[in-house]
Amino acid sequence: MKIDSAIEEQFDQMGDDHISSSEDTPLRDNAFALSDDEKIVKIKENVTQILETLGLDLTDDSLKGTPNRVAKMFVNEIFSGLHPDKKPKSSTFDNKYKYGEMLVEKNITLYSTCEHHLLPIVGRAHVAYISNGNVVGLSKMNRIVDYFAKRPQVQERLNIQIVRELQKVLNTEDVACIIDAKHLCVNSRGIRDIESSTVTAEYGGKFKEEATRREFLNFIKLETKF
Ligand SMILES: [Zn+2]
Repeated sequence: MKIDSAIEEQFDQMGDDHISSSEDTPLRDNAFALSDDEKIVKIKENVTQILETLGLDLTDDSLKGTPNRVAKMFVNEIFSGLHPDKKPKSSTFDNKYKYGEMLVEKNITLYSTCEHHLLPIVGRAHVAYISNGNVVGLSKMNRIVDYFAKRPQVQERLNIQIVRELQKVLNTEDVACIIDAKHLCVNSRGIRDIESSTVTAEYGGKFKEEATRREFLNFIKLETKF
């Protein structure tokens, strides 16, 4: 019993420090044994239990629909990126213009969920690549960011998953991503620091070189006026 609680405390601390264990999302072998509809039914029961345990009266009109609403939101929206079927199709085009410079898609809106507290992570992702002959539609980068964001996440892992996926799709190592995000578990509870944000970066291939990295950072700083 004593050892169990020591281990639990260690994991609690690990979560509060936002340390991740792997670059792959830790999924169970039977992660997709249940259909989405079956998951919604089960999660609805679980949410009911949580709210009732907290002492809430679920016969109240305002609370009546909450378990079902939360279950649907988990499965169909904020955690839908767990399902491989939801991954954006990875079609690329030939780079007809022979554009061999850096392409940056910046200020991509990012909504994710901290896997340690199940509270929102809100911020921006900036993604760049240098084409080796293949290009993707611009919105594809936003979709890839959104897909991996719709999981219980750790920001470092999210950052790595976005880069690895684009490297695969574009068939090049020359991909980079910077994420600047606020974690509501830090901003609204715990230390309650509303101003702080977390910046992470992952640089592949040429982006490991100082000059390329600097060019990317300068592009991100450009003010977009229109
Ligand atoms: Zn957290």
